[in-house]
Amino acid sequence: MAEKRRVMAAALEPSQDLTDLRSFVQAVLIPRAAQNDRDARFDHDTTRQLWERGLLNVLVPKEFGGTECSVSDLVWIARELGYGSAGVAATFIGNLLGFSAMILYANSPLREKLSRQNLNGFQLWSFAMTEKGCGSDLEKTATTARRVPGGYEITGEKNFITNATHATQLSVFAAVVNENGEPEGITCFYIPGDSPGLRRGDAVDKMGWRESNTGHLHFDRVFVPEYHRLGDLGAGLKVLTHCLNRSKTLLGAVSVGVSTRALDMVVERLLQTNRYGRALTDQSAIRHLLARLHTEVEAAWLLALRAAAVWDSGDFAVKEASMAKLFGGNTASKVTSQAVELFGARGFINEYEVSRLMRDAKAIEIVEGPSLVQELLIAKKVIPEKKASKKIYQLDEADARRIDVKKKVA
Ligand SMILES: Cc1cc2nc3c(=O)[nH]c(=O)nc-3n(C[C@H](O)[C@H](O)[C@H](O)COP(=O)(O)OP(=O)(O)OC[C@H]3O[C@@H](n4cnc5c(N)ncnc54)[C@H](O)[C@@H]3O)c2cc1C
Repeated sequence: MAEKRRVMAAALEPSQDLTDLRSFVQAVLIPRAAQNDRDARFDHDTTRQLWERGLLNVLVPKEFGGTECSVSDLVWIARELGYGSAGVAATFIGNLLGFSAMILYANSPLREKLSRQNLNGFQLWSFAMTEKGCGSDLEKTATTARRVPGGYEITGEKNFITNATHATQLSVFAAVVNENGEPEGITCFYIPGDSPGLRRGDAVDKMGWRESNTGHLHFDRVFVPEYHRLGDLGAGLKVLTHCLNRSKTLLGAVSVGVSTRALDMVVERLLQTNRYGRALTDQSAIRHLLARLHTEVEAAWLLALRAAAVWDSGDFAVKEASMAKLFGGNTASKVTSQAVELFGARGFINEYEVSRLMRDAKAIEIVEGPSLVQELLIAKKVIPEKKASKKIYQLDEADARRIDVKKKVA
């Protein structure tokens, strides 16, 4: 218990010096973001700089020479990247998701080999779960992994995958079918990006996160050896839940970065805008609005920090991560939409970046499970928790006596 409390308290402060990361965000991400967004350009140079700074290798274990960041470390990084460019933050998160499936579930020799490979040369990961017929509902996975001597043959298609066009490494989910055509369950596999039979579709043209790459992957009897299986046979849902919920915590932090940027821009703008003889920041209605928005962003940040601390204490933070993403995404949408409005006409024209933030915020509400799905996940946890504690279903004896006394008095 004391150790858990220590982890929770430590999560409120960054364990690493963020000065260098902030300089990178200010010097590289912010100046490039507007043009890359206009051109829907995946910036190879920025991505390479992410790798050079170790940001694509944050999970490599210390024993192999990596930094082995905790989830609490990662939320700080995700927030800073989100502040500079949600698109670049998406590249970071897509890479992390793919890599985390490997690092958490690969056998030891594969883990070591791929970790060292990641440190020695540029690698970019994708995490391929979604298909046309299955987003929120993984059990409908139509991509198959047919058992063949020595491994599996993967056939199918994955859609809307971050980093898909450029990924050198993939974590892919497929439904295993044995030699007799019988199902053996959804399973996760590591697939090198240069595997024969793997084809990349065009990048999709998106409303937001335009600086990130999102594309389709086609698998035509791609051979995967048995030792590239990530996790147990049929344990794909477990791998998915683990990786995705860790990642949702980081999306919560990205949403805080996007919201904070919008608030910084809007306050700067309002300070310079005089209406009715004074700066707009001196108008009472605007002061109240800014106070409320700042409070909501702070609350979103605390949810992300808490979810991270729960992961780092060794528990599965599904409820906390879902709350962080749900509230963070909704807050980012609300804050950025308000920011556009507070910019007036300038908010609506592309010359001012604030409209990009609004488009970027929307993606957070959809990817890794839309808000309605997060609500279902939260309800699935909180209702049984309440039921178990019986508080809302049964009055305890003291309550019952109090009510009885009130009745008598009446
Ligand atoms: C920019 C971008 C990047 C992405 N990157 C990746 C990636 O790297 N890897 C990957 O695998 N996928 C990726 N995705 C896919 C993304 O995770 C899915 O789009 C998302 O999970 C939603 O799935 P869906 O599109 O099939 O929506 P659906 O599941 O069809 O949902 C549609 C709507 O129905 C609602 N809904 C669904 N189920 C229920 C229910 N039971 N009850 C009530 N309402 C429900 C949802 O809330 C939503 O509003 C990406 C998508 C985008 C846009």
